[in-house]
Amino acid sequence: MMSKGYMGKVLHVDLTTGEIRDEAVPDSVYEKYLGGMGLGAYMLYKEIPEGADPLGPDNILGFLPGLLTGTGSLFTGRWMVVGKSPLTGGWGDANCGGTFSPAIKRCGYDGIFVKGISEKPVYLYVDDRVRELRDASGVWGMDTVETEAYLSKKSGEKGKKPKVACIGPAGESVSLISGISTDNGRMAARSGLGAVMGAKRLKAVVLAGSKQIAARNPEEMKALSQKCNRWVQFQPPLVKGPLTWILGALMRIMPTVLTMDGMLYKILLKKWGTVSMNQISPEMGDAPIKNWKGSSKDWGAKKSLSSNPDVFTGCEKVKYHCYSCPLGCGGICTIEGKYGETHKPEYETVLSLGGLCMNEDVESIFYLNELLNRAGMDTISAGHAVAFAMECYEKGVITNSDTDGLGLTWGNSDVIVTLVERMVKREGFGHVLADGVKQAVERLGKKSEPYAVLAGGQEPAMHDSRNDPGFALHYSVEPTPGRHTLGSHLYYEMYQLWKVVKGIPKIPPMYWKGSKYKNIEKNAEIGAINSKYMTIINAAGVCMFGAFIGARRIRIFDWMNAATGWEFTPEQYLEKASDIHTLKQSFNVKHGIEPKEIKISERALGRPVQTEGANKGRSIEIEEMMRRYWEQFGWDGETGKPTVEQMKINAAG
Ligand code: SF4
Repeated sequence: MMSKGYMGKVLHVDLTTGEIRDEAVPDSVYEKYLGGMGLGAYMLYKEIPEGADPLGPDNILGFLPGLLTGTGSLFTGRWMVVGKSPLTGGWGDANCGGTFSPAIKRCGYDGIFVKGISEKPVYLYVDDRVRELRDASGVWGMDTVETEAYLSKKSGEKGKKPKVACIGPAGESVSLISGISTDNGRMAARSGLGAVMGAKRLKAVVLAGSKQIAARNPEEMKALSQKCNRWVQFQPPLVKGPLTWILGALMRIMPTVLTMDGMLYKILLKKWGTVSMNQISPEMGDAPIKNWKGSSKDWGAKKSLSSNPDVFTGCEKVKYHCYSCPLGCGGICTIEGKYGETHKPEYETVLSLGGLCMNEDVESIFYLNELLNRAGMDTISAGHAVAFAMECYEKGVITNSDTDGLGLTWGNSDVIVTLVERMVKREGFGHVLADGVKQAVERLGKKSEPYAVLAGGQEPAMHDSRNDPGFALHYSVEPTPGRHTLGSHLYYEMYQLWKVVKGIPKIPPMYWKGSKYKNIEKNAEIGAINSKYMTIINAAGVCMFGAFIGARRIRIFDWMNAATGWEFTPEQYLEKASDIHTLKQSFNVKHGIEPKEIKISERALGRPVQTEGANKGRSIEIEEMMRRYWEQFGWDGETGKPTVEQMKINAAG
């Protein structure tokens, strides 16, 4: 077979019957759906029956590498898990780095799809010869780090170290905010897909293949990668971590915006990782504070100082790189106490367990990061659940008699730690929060609803939609709502796609800050382009941080052509992405989601407007933006649903 960068088949596993079978995938499917997320959408749309229970046997969980994974390209070690989300009831996906993505391909597959429910706990083992379900009763109950160590050792042959993706106690107890872990705490955290794995009694997927992954044009792949790497390695000296807040303050004060070149963010990432934003984001209004009711006034440079980026690199034992990543934004940190070490916490974790709960105690955040990674629970959702409970407590909706005596006052780190420990174990009031904010509202009643900040049932990420209307839009219109990894105005600036795609809006080098909020039509147009580009990124298995360096520096379209032998133009790739995006929206409509109803909560839209801080006076005209965004895909502007014709095409496959 001619090398094409992909393996040409997928694996199907039925946990109810024990059947395991290969399916050859025709080239035409890859040409249409590319791989990764696109291939997952193609499979799940046709295979999951209408109305399937996300926690029942008909739901299918797919593990997919990217089209570009293993082909000699850079930043292409991301893998995707897809399924019907028990958290939103619609399309679910989560994206993760580490080293699991190439392991799927080395077993000879472009996807592993699991349906049914096993009678007893099992794990799936695959290598070049063997594909079997094995008894997991010995590891059921172990945390993710213990599970990985045990299964990797048990299954390793001849010095090989198998790659493991697994759930922890949160997934086993079907927590709707649980995720799937690899590499000792790299989490595919969002959409609650760990609960799907737990409901299926599938503890882990263990991969030990050694097949070759070959690109059509390896020389071209190498040349493109070398050029990209030169940009990545450019690294001028930077200021000290505690001074980064000044950059955020400048961005807040200036009435104009200098269009962001993603190289600046790359430089921050390479030095510190995502924690580089710990002080910048709150200052500029990008970080939601105090359950989204606070502002940069409540979480100023003094309060964020304890989590300044140098604190994290100061205890970094070694840098961590995902597969094929020349940047290495991760790190392994040494910490005091029970665990000894942890993956360097991400910005999202620091802010959701920090500023969102007014918690200045960074040691507690290191501890909670490891606790939640080991439990296999989403740190963004867990932080939101705590912040929501704190506001309910402040408003008298709940009292000590509801919280087992815990005084849920803002910033009380001891109480936050105890509460999260109880969430993981589902003990007492911890059980009320263990499935996220939406379930907590159902358990506490309507009076708690005003304090819930959600998009379609999912807790949004740590990027304030009042500061960037692009986040407001993507939180509200994507088939997986509430996600920061799908688009924003800032991302569009960093991608600089107009340099490689014809006929799309260009952002001027400098503009008035206020204009971002007024140009509804343009925001909708660039929002649609963001969604399409992100679909390409997720089909190819590219890390979003790599894509931020700009489309002329990271040549994703050229890599895809060199890997497969295709000759598609960037414009043709975006058309394919539009079809994949429509397929995901069709999945939601097929499963009863009303797109209009997944809009993010009013508070996050500036309704009412804030009276102080970086986002003072801002509100987002979301409804009109949503309408125009949907029209960009040819969907009905009033309902957000694809047309009958589009649904028919998708049903035909
Ligand atoms: S930039 Fe960070 S998240 Fe992205 S691939 Fe590299 S190490 Fe992984």
